[in-house]
Amino acid sequence: MKKRAAKTAENYIFINGKFFPKAEASISVFDHGLLYGDGVFEGMRSYNGLLFRIEEHLDRLWESAQAILLKIPYSKKDLQDVCIATLQKNKLKDAYIRLVVTRGTGDLGLDPRKCKVPTIFAIADKIELYDPALYSQGIEIITAATTRNHPEAINPCIKSLNYLNNILAKIEATNAGYCDALMLNKDGYVAECSGANVFIVKEGNLFTPPTYVGALKGITRGAIIDVAKKIKIPFQEKILTRHDLFNAEECFLTGTAAEIIPVVKLDGRVIGNGKPGETTHSLRRAFGDLTRVDGVRYKI
Ligand code: PMP
Repeated sequence: MKKRAAKTAENYIFINGKFFPKAEASISVFDHGLLYGDGVFEGMRSYNGLLFRIEEHLDRLWESAQAILLKIPYSKKDLQDVCIATLQKNKLKDAYIRLVVTRGTGDLGLDPRKCKVPTIFAIADKIELYDPALYSQGIEIITAATTRNHPEAINPCIKSLNYLNNILAKIEATNAGYCDALMLNKDGYVAECSGANVFIVKEGNLFTPPTYVGALKGITRGAIIDVAKKIKIPFQEKILTRHDLFNAEECFLTGTAAEIIPVVKLDGRVIGNGKPGETTHSLRRAFGDLTRVDGVRYKI
């Protein structure tokens, strides 16, 4: 007898107050988020019915919007409710949630004043987990020739829809056969990777660059700093060079989707003993504990 294909659940997208099936979810081609990358967003994660660090994500969304003079016509609580409603509508306990606020629909000119109402949408989908082997073996990365955006041009602290700078670095990485690339700022200091923050461990101390060098204030970065304090790993923000990374004992990247991923080689230089280190392991465990308690719970 023929087996019937398992029915995959319909995915619903929230757009401006309503849910649409994925195939029918669309926004105007005159939306300035699409025409100019004029908008801001957040990428969040839920763990077993707990929306992780949602307050921090919404604070960062508001800071990004403030920096580009975009007034979000909702309260933080409203958007928290939107995220939870989207998760509930899609019956997702463990998910990745993308919340986007664009300048809205305008004309073909740049002028944001022509965009009267911001477009808001939220997508929740199953989280695509990275290959577990990457976490036990660590990854190899290269340095991108593309410089991270100058903070006085487009500040990397703004999580805007304009990701071309990061995409150029990602293309360099994938063209060379690597999964990610380290980005330096215009002075040659380590900024971040194409979609993740960078940490190193040296003589038992944990370091990451301050965000003013040109890095996003990652929510996972913040969580790692908090758990380092908790498990008594000395931490400091520090300007870092490639030389510091080459000579670190351990190195790892942080981001909402990848969480904490060890880096064992940069530009062909083996970092430490070429294996993910003990400090990275301890931080990963402590981060795992945090994802069970730090956020807002919701029911399906
Ligand atoms: N830097 C960049 C450029 C990013 O896009 C991201 C998110 N993917 C991060 C850092 C990590 O931030 P978070 O921990 O908030 O996901």
